[in-house]
Amino acid sequence: MKFEELGVEPALVEQLNSLNIYEPSLVQSSVIPKILMRKSLLVASQTGSGKTFAYLLPLLQVLSANGSRGKIDMVILLPTRELAKQVGDIAQKLCSVVGLTSAVIYGGVAYEPQIEALQSMPSVIIATVGRLNDLMSQGVLSLYDVEYFVLDEVDQMLDLGFNDSVLKLAECRNRGGVSCFLSATISDKVREIVDRIDNSVELIDCNSSNSTNNIEQFVYYIERRLMGNLLVHILRSEKPERAIIFTRSRNMADRVVQALCENGIVAESFHSDRSQAAREHILARFKSGETPIVVATDVMARGIDVDNVDYVINYGLPQTPELYIHRIGRTGRAGKAGRAVSMCEPDDYELLGAIQKMMRKSITEVANHPYYTQEVTKLLSGFYRSAKSDNKVKSKLRAK
Ligand code: AMP
Repeated sequence: MKFEELGVEPALVEQLNSLNIYEPSLVQSSVIPKILMRKSLLVASQTGSGKTFAYLLPLLQVLSANGSRGKIDMVILLPTRELAKQVGDIAQKLCSVVGLTSAVIYGGVAYEPQIEALQSMPSVIIATVGRLNDLMSQGVLSLYDVEYFVLDEVDQMLDLGFNDSVLKLAECRNRGGVSCFLSATISDKVREIVDRIDNSVELIDCNSSNSTNNIEQFVYYIERRLMGNLLVHILRSEKPERAIIFTRSRNMADRVVQALCENGIVAESFHSDRSQAAREHILARFKSGETPIVVATDVMARGIDVDNVDYVINYGLPQTPELYIHRIGRTGRAGKAGRAVSMCEPDDYELLGAIQKMMRKSITEVANHPYYTQEVTKLLSGFYRSAKSDNKVKSKLRAK
């Protein structure tokens, strides 16, 4: 299958080819023809699946074919600055070949360049919710009758508490326009907010083919106090070329970096306490390979789009199965192989079960590691016993 066969115009295909992209991914071949027919969609697709081109290509093509109306015709909302920047960069490249202009709006940087960019009347804006609201309340821009409305990473927008802001911004939509919602997971909450904005959407589920297929997953049960030692052991024995280590808190990310540096391992932390400029530098050094290891929190790691991340390491499990899927989706991108290694406290035994259930996939346990203790065996056997008795109760109930 070729992009031309999906209806993508030659100038855009040429631009894709210049980025070494030749064959559409699953989400692209599912979504592009529908948007070209002006269908509104809710797309279940992981990051790394190629979903950005899946919506940008057809939406920009349709907008350019219909001609811009000399106002903001398309709004694309993203949960983090890094994502807005990334999508903004791609949008700018595509816009230039179809005669459109775009502006990127996100916080943590000076207002002036963004205000200037808006004064040149772009037809497409790519934005984070906070800065966009900020500029709107300053009267720098007004949004109305927006023909094309995109909400990317809906599940994360909700996790970050943007529900009300997103609903409010969605009021700028032209009801007869095209909307596109993308989310790695489709929970009831995601479905509810999407329905409130546009209940005519068609659901396209690109997750059923399980896009975690190319990621090998392992779990190490470990006491928290020994996680640092195990991490150093894993990094020394596996020697990842480029790894992201996830922690639950900023403080923990900094502590892990410090411990790694004390062991002669080069790493930097990436989280919301760091300035925008610092985050951009860290990302650039990570991409170039100068810093091979980044220790990140969930919130800030969402925007990381780096090819060739061969390892994701969970320094403890994240709070929810959804977050686990987001985290491991940072490796194995665009069909490449990846590894996800989780250090898991025995107390998180049930959470690990929920993760496996959600993925419909089991995670291989590595039991013979040097920091496996009697305490871990003791705690785990308690969980195994209660899981067994739970199953007995359930099968008795089923038999009744
Ligand atoms: P996304 O899921 O949009 O964040 O894309 C993840 C990565 O895959 C990006 O670095 C894209 O440049 C790359 N990509 C997107 N579509 C394709 C494709 N059809 N073939 C190869 N790489 C792609």
